[in-house]
Amino acid sequence: MSAKIIDGKSIAAEVKADVAKKVSELKKSGVTPCLAVILVGNNPASVSYVSGKRKALAEAGMEDRSIELPESTTEQEILSLIQKLNEDKTVHGILVQLPLPSHIDEKKVTNSISPEKDVDGFHPVNVGRLVTGEKGFLPCTPNGITVLLKKMNVETSGKNVVVVGRSNIVGKPMALLMLRKEFNSTVTICHTGTKNLSDYTKKADILIVASGRPNTVTADMIKEGAAVIDVGVNRIPDSTKKSGFRLCGDVDFEGAKEVAGFITPVPGGVGPMTIAMLIFNTLESAENFKAQND
Ligand code: NAP
Repeated sequence: MSAKIIDGKSIAAEVKADVAKKVSELKKSGVTPCLAVILVGNNPASVSYVSGKRKALAEAGMEDRSIELPESTTEQEILSLIQKLNEDKTVHGILVQLPLPSHIDEKKVTNSISPEKDVDGFHPVNVGRLVTGEKGFLPCTPNGITVLLKKMNVETSGKNVVVVGRSNIVGKPMALLMLRKEFNSTVTICHTGTKNLSDYTKKADILIVASGRPNTVTADMIKEGAAVIDVGVNRIPDSTKKSGFRLCGDVDFEGAKEVAGFITPVPGGVGPMTIAMLIFNTLESAENFKAQND
């Protein structure tokens, strides 16, 4: 058996095209969705993520109010900048690219973003809304994964979903989303304290892996026909590549695709969806702004 490859790139392109159409409609009423991405320093992975986000903004016809700051920027300088952006009615989304340099308190910074402009969905108010099921911004990566599952017609109701990883940005919100009545899954979260990981992964109809470690899941740990979503993005040194590295996920793709029913590749699986959902959230924020000001 060979798994169906979930083409995140083309599904993300569909989402982005739909957003771009709605942006051009919204512009006719005088509102241009606008996102400010704040990048501090020049961490190579962050620089590359930010350039991907900015490219998507441009393609969607949105306004890009991104700001690049030197590594030496103080916490107070970032907080003041965020306050200005919070007050600016023409800015609908604010995103701080993580990680921040170690002299800056990341929590303090992300918590200073207005929940109504928190298009990453990381603010405790939006996390609370996710928990209680109220309307709020959903974190882009987990939300993008639900879109992949829907587009591939993967049944979620009554299914066993196992999430490997309990981070605030992927694992926990992913589990909370799948728990919603809308998806109706039975959810298990695994982490480094989990004994015999494969006892859990083998029961998964949908296995979502966000451990940040290559080969956390191998073919022998997967139930035949399961949908395997690999969130991991790991840089492996590779002298044959111009960049000096290649990307791999947290799942052994070559082995896993022989057992799984569906699988996301890395790159080209979950990654493109994260950016697509970011511009989706920015559009939603601009629409909310318009509704409140009409
Ligand atoms: P993280 O904060 O490092 O969290 C990793 C989680 O995995 C932790 O909860 C950890 O458990 C658990 N874990 C690690 N090794 C494990 C193992 N062998 N068995 C079971 N659990 C294990 O990472 P993250 O921010 O969630 O990101 C995870 C991966 O996704 C990274 O590779 C990241 O680059 C990638 N990512 C990709 C996207 C995208 O758009 N494609 C977006 C975000 C993240 P403990 O809590 O016990 O330490």
